[in-house]
Amino acid sequence: MTGIDAVEGRRAHDLDRAHVFHSWSAQGALDPFVIAGGLASTIWDFDGREYLDFSSQLVNMNIGHQHPKVVAAIQKQAELLTMVAPPHADIARGEAAQRIVEKAGPPFSKVFFTNGGADANENAIRMARLVTGRDKVLSTYRSYHGNTGAAIVATGDWRRVPNEFARGHVHFFGPFLYRSEFWASSEAEESERALHHLERVVQAEGPESIAAIILEGIPGTAGVLVPPPGYLQGVREICDRYGIKLIVDEVMSGFGRAGEWFAFQLAGITPDLVTFAKGVNSGYVPVGGVIISDEIARHFDERVFPGGLTYSGHALAAASIVASIDAMVDEGVIENARMIGTDHLGPALAALAARHPMIGEVRGIGVFWALDLVSDPETRAPVDAATIAALKRELLARGVLPFAADNRIHVVPPCVVTPAEVERAMVAYDEAFTAVAAASS
Ligand code: PLP
Repeated sequence: MTGIDAVEGRRAHDLDRAHVFHSWSAQGALDPFVIAGGLASTIWDFDGREYLDFSSQLVNMNIGHQHPKVVAAIQKQAELLTMVAPPHADIARGEAAQRIVEKAGPPFSKVFFTNGGADANENAIRMARLVTGRDKVLSTYRSYHGNTGAAIVATGDWRRVPNEFARGHVHFFGPFLYRSEFWASSEAEESERALHHLERVVQAEGPESIAAIILEGIPGTAGVLVPPPGYLQGVREICDRYGIKLIVDEVMSGFGRAGEWFAFQLAGITPDLVTFAKGVNSGYVPVGGVIISDEIARHFDERVFPGGLTYSGHALAAASIVASIDAMVDEGVIENARMIGTDHLGPALAALAARHPMIGEVRGIGVFWALDLVSDPETRAPVDAATIAALKRELLARGVLPFAADNRIHVVPPCVVTPAEVERAMVAYDEAFTAVAAASS
């Protein structure tokens, strides 16, 4: 462990409170958790207390904290060349794009690099609009696509509403059997009815006005809503039927989180555009991008693409992508995430739910899970914010850094998490649920 120094910890906290303006928050009552260091799935504070990072920060540390090969690649690139402007070329950017395209498979041929996930979606939407000559974009209410002009309006959750300046965005309900909008009682029914609803929205909006449907490979922040079998295939068919481009947002679900390189590969479909960020290099350097099908890439062979960013394909980001993807391949990180989901997290979370009636549903795959928490298992009424705050406190006190969203705890460790770490974390979850249930009874 490095950086253990309680005085420095206090200073980090006070500097933050004095000068850092935080996302999505009223600033007054904030009391941020201060992190001193990390390695793989573990982080520690300035007092030397260790925590299992079952949040992966913002569900992005897929390769874990401070992977030595990724850190070394950034150091080496920093010594060589830190910045190459987008019109020029260098080895790292080309190699990063080549590896990403390889992992996405055919028909993808090119990558447009951005600074993160939101501007990846922004540019994918722009490409779809330019290629189709249409302007509307359809997305689900239960979604998050980022915090910029079009991305925040494509977002379905509450964060859209105060930002709704951009025109041409239409929302629909995706499948979610546990809280079905379609009165469905099976995954097959939910999928069929959700597809019918989507097709009716397309028809009612006027297919000739719709450029793109944008969907997360697995909606993440909205609650890890793994699409039922057949749903993504059905969306692909609707897109084909009406000449609409399909953008799959893999910012959270990609690069191992779902036990595959991309979640769309689990459904065996081919999008027209794929967006990524987070897990591509675990955020060691900010980066995102759009993976472009050959057909769309060729559209811009003779036409100018009217978009760009100073840091598109930044050298440090590119070097970290190359090292991260290579380490994931060499160390079987994707396979580990899949195995952890199947053999450890899946069964352990099901057992946890069997012991705690507050856990209404366990959903997920790989290292991408959500516990949907209810105050009444019959009505499925969501637990309140105080219950979630109490669970977060109890988990932290037991050495687990959790990820919470609305009435849910998301169980999202790095893809490199070990079976022993899962076992340790499960003891903490079990005890935390017991403590919170006892306090409220
Ligand atoms: N898309 C999805 C699915 C996300 O989960 C996020 C962030 O959580 C974004 C886009 C936005 O990415 P960024 O915060 O890098 O702009």
